[in-house]
Amino acid sequence: MWRASVLTIFPEMFPGPLGASLAGKALANSIWSLEANDIRAHATDKHRSVDDTPAGGGPGMVMRADVLARAIDAVADDRPRLLMSPRGRPLTQARVAELAAGPGAIFLCGRFEGIDERLIAARNLEEISVGDYVLNGGEVAAMVLLEACVRLLPGVMGKAESGAEESFSAGLLEYPQYTRPQVFEGQGIPEILTSGDHAKIAAFRRSEAERLTRERRPDLWAAFETQKPPTKAKTKG
Ligand code: SAH
Repeated sequence: MWRASVLTIFPEMFPGPLGASLAGKALANSIWSLEANDIRAHATDKHRSVDDTPAGGGPGMVMRADVLARAIDAVADDRPRLLMSPRGRPLTQARVAELAAGPGAIFLCGRFEGIDERLIAARNLEEISVGDYVLNGGEVAAMVLLEACVRLLPGVMGKAESGAEESFSAGLLEYPQYTRPQVFEGQGIPEILTSGDHAKIAAFRRSEAERLTRERRPDLWAAFETQKPPTKAKTKG
């Protein structure tokens, strides 16, 4: 069973959306487990405070290293320890797949202005960002990462192949999809898709995926171009 431990001052936010749909079914079927631990349980003063004013002054509050260290130590094992952080490495499908293939993870959710810097090295935390924007806390970011991991666990997605063809898994965005009706507000479905010629359909989808990636994500396209094996020079005869 893939095990998630979330450290948060809002444990009541979990499982939240992860309790519904595919992730919720997988949770009920013990394909994964989720434990939301209240960081406040590790505070020692009578107000159960987890934060204090920033050294050097400035606005807001900072989460205390000692309280967070105790919260981590209470659940720590061989799982990766992830700190949700806008300063972290941007999350990729490749990292999601690695995490999903492991034993699970520990998710530390920041609040306020963030956490005391000393904790990161002291507890070997991997900082992960879900994008270049700022949230109020790490909880929703942890849910994003959790949902991305859980759907890759064996038995969660319906068809085994539904993961392999998706956006990012081959370094490309996914090709466009169509379904009934055949004509929608005057627009038809590309003819090739109704031809029944599977080789042509695959080639069409591939070229559409490449076109979309080139147009929308020059960064992904550049990485794709450098990674793909060089095309063999055509030999005569
Ligand atoms: N002062 C910080 C932002 C703090 S936001 C800064 O400027 O970098 C409070 C918490 O929300 C963070 O500690 C982190 O856990 C979470 N968070 C905010 N944005 C995030 C993002 N893009 N990715 C992951 N976690 C994020």
